[in-house]
Amino acid sequence: MLHFETVRRRMVDEQLIKRGIKEERVLAAMRKVPRHLFVEEALQQRAYGDHALPIGEKQTISQPYMVALMTESLSLSGSEKVLELGTGSGYQTAILAELSTRVFSIERIKGLAHKARKILESLRYLNVVIRLKDGTYGWKEEAPFDVILVAAGAPEIPSLLIEQLKIGGRLVIPIGGRNSQVLKRVVREDKGIVEEDLSSCIFVPLVGTYGWKKGGDEQGRDE
Ligand code: SAH
Repeated sequence: MLHFETVRRRMVDEQLIKRGIKEERVLAAMRKVPRHLFVEEALQQRAYGDHALPIGEKQTISQPYMVALMTESLSLSGSEKVLELGTGSGYQTAILAELSTRVFSIERIKGLAHKARKILESLRYLNVVIRLKDGTYGWKEEAPFDVILVAAGAPEIPSLLIEQLKIGGRLVIPIGGRNSQVLKRVVREDKGIVEEDLSSCIFVPLVGTYGWKKGGDEQGRDE
């Protein structure tokens, strides 16, 4: 629809380019993917705003700038095999699918995985596989990956993810407390890993064996 295309272009100009996102392939993908289709109908008019939005199950679709920043930091050339943790709405998954060969995405909440699968199929993203699981174990059968994107905040870097990254591979992950984190870019080199801080950020918790023990969607506290 013309209206959404116009606001999407404005989103790219005002939220992404003005804040320093430069990679043309990332900008093109963000101009193309219809973000409003990844939120419920009542929220579609707000889909291109400069913020995250609720997607049900106490989870959120990430802010457009955060999606662009994470994607740009992975330096995708188009030939990569990608692992994503936290499919959520599937929006970030679509952006990754535009920019790589194959995307393996893991979500722990059934309703979200189901919805994301449906919308990605209807948009003909045939290079995406979504699995319902605790993603903190990674995806051993498909490893190693060129890049890994984690869309939920973790107390520390799950070591299995580093093991499933190729040498020279890049991982982007929010690390910190439950309510605020630092977005880190990690490169696996021959002799170990090199970490770089990209930005402060606020993500929902990565809940699982190698993440937080309980999510905001569950009762109880972390041990
Ligand atoms: N990129 C998504 C972000 C969704 S929020 C979007 O923009 O829509 C983060 C998602 O991570 C939530 O859907 C949450 O259920 C999921 N998640 C949290 N812990 C997880 C885990 N251990 N494995 C897989 N998914 C997880």
